[in-house]
Amino acid sequence: MNWYQLEIQQIFEKLKTTERGLTTDEARERLLKFGPNRLAAEGKISRLQILLHQFKSPLIYILLIAAVVTFFLEEYKDTGVITAVVLLNALIGYIQEVKAEKQVRALKRMVVAKARVLRDGKEVEIDGEAVVPGDIVLLASGGRIPADVRLLKTIELRTDESMLTGESLPAEKKTVIIPEDNLPPGDQLNIAFMGTAVVNGRGSGVVVATAAQTVLGHIARDVQEIEVAKSPLQEKIDRFAQAIGIIVLVAASLLFVIGILVGEKAEDMFLTAVAATVATIPEGLPIVVTIALAIGVARMAQHLAIIRKLPAVETLGSTTVICSDKTGTLTKNEMTVRLAYDGEKVYEFGGSGYKPEGEILEEGRPIRAIADHQMALLLRIGLLCNESEIYEEEGDYKVDGDPTEGALIVAAMKAGLNPAEERNNLPQLFIIPFESDRGYMATVHRQGDRNVIYAKGAPEKILELCSGCRYGICEDVLKVANHFAQAGLRVLGMAYREIPAEQVEITAKDLQTGLTFAGLQGMIDPPRPEAIEAVAGCKQAGIRVVMITGDHAVTALAIARQLGIAPEEEVVEDLAAKPMDSLTDEELLSLTQTVAGFLALRSGLSNRQPESITGKHVRAMSDMEFLGLLKDLLAALVKRAGPEGAVRHVLAGREIETMSDSTLFHLVQKVSVYARVAPQHKLRITQQLMKHGEIVAMTGDGVNDAPALKTAHIGVAMGKTGTDVAKESSDMVIADDNFASIYRAVELGRIVFDNIRKVIFFLIPTGIAAIISIMATVMLGLPLPYLPAQLLWINIVTNGLQDVALAFEPGEKDILQRPPRNPKAGIFNRLLVERTILVGLLISTGVIYAFLHALHQGMSLEKARTIAVTTMVFFQFFQALNSRSEMQSLLRMNPLGNPFLFFGTIAAFLAHLAAIYLPSLQWLFRMEPLTPVDWLRIGLISITVIIAVEIDKLVRRIVTSVYH
Ligand code: ATP
Repeated sequence: MNWYQLEIQQIFEKLKTTERGLTTDEARERLLKFGPNRLAAEGKISRLQILLHQFKSPLIYILLIAAVVTFFLEEYKDTGVITAVVLLNALIGYIQEVKAEKQVRALKRMVVAKARVLRDGKEVEIDGEAVVPGDIVLLASGGRIPADVRLLKTIELRTDESMLTGESLPAEKKTVIIPEDNLPPGDQLNIAFMGTAVVNGRGSGVVVATAAQTVLGHIARDVQEIEVAKSPLQEKIDRFAQAIGIIVLVAASLLFVIGILVGEKAEDMFLTAVAATVATIPEGLPIVVTIALAIGVARMAQHLAIIRKLPAVETLGSTTVICSDKTGTLTKNEMTVRLAYDGEKVYEFGGSGYKPEGEILEEGRPIRAIADHQMALLLRIGLLCNESEIYEEEGDYKVDGDPTEGALIVAAMKAGLNPAEERNNLPQLFIIPFESDRGYMATVHRQGDRNVIYAKGAPEKILELCSGCRYGICEDVLKVANHFAQAGLRVLGMAYREIPAEQVEITAKDLQTGLTFAGLQGMIDPPRPEAIEAVAGCKQAGIRVVMITGDHAVTALAIARQLGIAPEEEVVEDLAAKPMDSLTDEELLSLTQTVAGFLALRSGLSNRQPESITGKHVRAMSDMEFLGLLKDLLAALVKRAGPEGAVRHVLAGREIETMSDSTLFHLVQKVSVYARVAPQHKLRITQQLMKHGEIVAMTGDGVNDAPALKTAHIGVAMGKTGTDVAKESSDMVIADDNFASIYRAVELGRIVFDNIRKVIFFLIPTGIAAIISIMATVMLGLPLPYLPAQLLWINIVTNGLQDVALAFEPGEKDILQRPPRNPKAGIFNRLLVERTILVGLLISTGVIYAFLHALHQGMSLEKARTIAVTTMVFFQFFQALNSRSEMQSLLRMNPLGNPFLFFGTIAAFLAHLAAIYLPSLQWLFRMEPLTPVDWLRIGLISITVIIAVEIDKLVRRIVTSVYH
């Protein structure tokens, strides 16, 4: 027998469960018996693989060849050093890669799917992995189905089963028994399958199979594996490092040939060329880039931004537009009803939060005994057409469910309605849940010997369903709603209709008409203070913030003004007196409205005086003056005609609906508030913004937001309110749903990119200096300034730690005052090239000078080489410090700002001292002890690189400030 052929009762018996679900103990036992609800364990990259990977680089091959060659030449000392370098390199690479691997694993774990189940008769959220057969699960739109589930209840439940069946249209789910045998999954309409997603409606069901026993478990392994893509930057750097590698190899070969031509020994030149290659190739670069990205990921996670796809770290830094949902992201999502309108009067509600205490004022006077009042019906609808709960926890009142609904319950309680009593008197029989797309919800209640429908939703949506209003004039309702919205309130309309007792189940069709409008409730949802700061920060950082909301345009604009997203309302001055060309588009619009009003008045079409400040002036005009104004106005309007002309702050979903892509294309650059938006509009807004070349971050939480999240450069899903589908389509999940966290992530993204540049500023010029200094001495017919082993030493003591340390830089102060980076601009910009030349030449000249000076003074070749090596090492230490900022002076930076670099440099210095003074290392690297005068000279020569770069930075700062 198949599950879909069985009666529910039979299934309950087979699975030893009931509609109240399992107890916690039963669930625990079953989890042990059936194992976690997880598909095949993910293939982990083994440590051995990582270790072997370290030996796969061309650089290592070169070194290994060199080791073999030296061995046959019986230069065992060099063989030893080279082998040590190979092993050390492999060890460093291994540690770094294991760390990066761990990070990626951790990333995967951060976004675990959750499931809502009944345990001990109560609804709880658990990890999807803890679901066991017999559990009763609750399904809602946007959720992934955690296991194979036989459905018990469905309300307009549709699931996307394309991953199992290939069918792209959502499957309509039912609860009826299906008698046929051997049905493919696509025809098992009363089963919801693990891994498929709910695209609409609600449902509940009993889990019949988990993990490998599910249909998905049979056909697929690990479908939800998050792929670890390399970021475009990583790829670019890989290619860059390869290109440098080839150049260096060519240069080294040249070096070898020239050396032989000038009479050096072939074996010496071979080793020197190999060592020069190693010292010059930025072998650490690709791995340091990965580390910098991984550090970015970790820092972002600390700030509640969880990166799901690595490329996002880098793209975040160049974000130019952030499109954000309003409710809960920019605002607190703590709703409190402030105003209510019952069709006759407006009432004010006192109190704050969800505490059900506060005065109610009717036209300024407190009222009591509201339960008998006319407004009671309005509040009752809000209370009962509701799926949420208010509960008390340690004296604090909280909402379980939707904050909008919580506010309505609290408002009713303030008026003295008792939720339990009301629910008892008017038990809920049926529900059509709220869906953003529909804009309203409805419930059916038993009321004596009849039934009654209660509905609530966006006022204009509810009005559409109504054939009348409780107190007659429906016209006023929208005016009052508008008035509420201007104060930034989110407004809901309530309506009702009596139906016969036999009618329990209703569909959206039954609601099409015949409801009576009961009134409005308006609630505040204050902006998050940190979001206001973040919006201001975005402005400074050259990032535009766009608000996208399901709320009404007027509410949206009012909140956008509070947040600083839309400009403050300007006081309309005497626009008619100003030159037409100087008016902003908005002023022009306002003037047009006034003039149109007067035109109607003067031509007798209307007897209403237009009310506006501008009106005063226009009213006083003679007919000739008025005609002149009209003419000018028409000319100005024609001039600015076309969609490009108009400045718009708000665009509504229904306008977008009928708008062509090309019109929208022009508007997206100006509009920063979108209201009553449906998810498909988000996609179009994203696409048009991207056409302008913007780097777009887009937030979303619902299942229908997925296409927009996937399309945007950075899809941002909400951690708390986001559905599984939204999270899976996103690049980043914001754990606290807070806009400020997105802003912080952008900042950290910029730091990552900056740090990668810092590493390049360090590695490339110093590498180039190494090879230039060798080539120059060979060409001048001088002895080599460093022995091969010494070159390898320089490489270890300077590149082993400093490059990685630079990836840990905390970020410069002005990082958010700069405009976003042009994503098309490469890493190697003009500044980097110029500074590479400056530093490369300076270091090589300095080293050669120090070396020659030592030889001239009659020092031994060994000692002169020790001086050359030490000078090179110090130059590199200083260049690492220089690289901490491209433009800022080193003097203005806290030396301990990057402790890793500070202590790393000290450690490297001590190691170098050991190489000079410890007899065994002295022997190995052929170093000689230095005198204080030598040290002083080395210090003075190498510090020039700081002085030169400081001057370069200063000049550039002056030029930039003059230029601006
Ligand atoms: P944002 O896009 O800023 O996050 P939102 O997603 O909260 O906003 P919706 O939930 O789509 O926006 O709400 C749009 C409108 O639907 C609201 O202005 C309100 O009038 C109405 N509404 C919101 N929640 C409910 C609900 N639970 N029941 C009935 N109507 C609701």
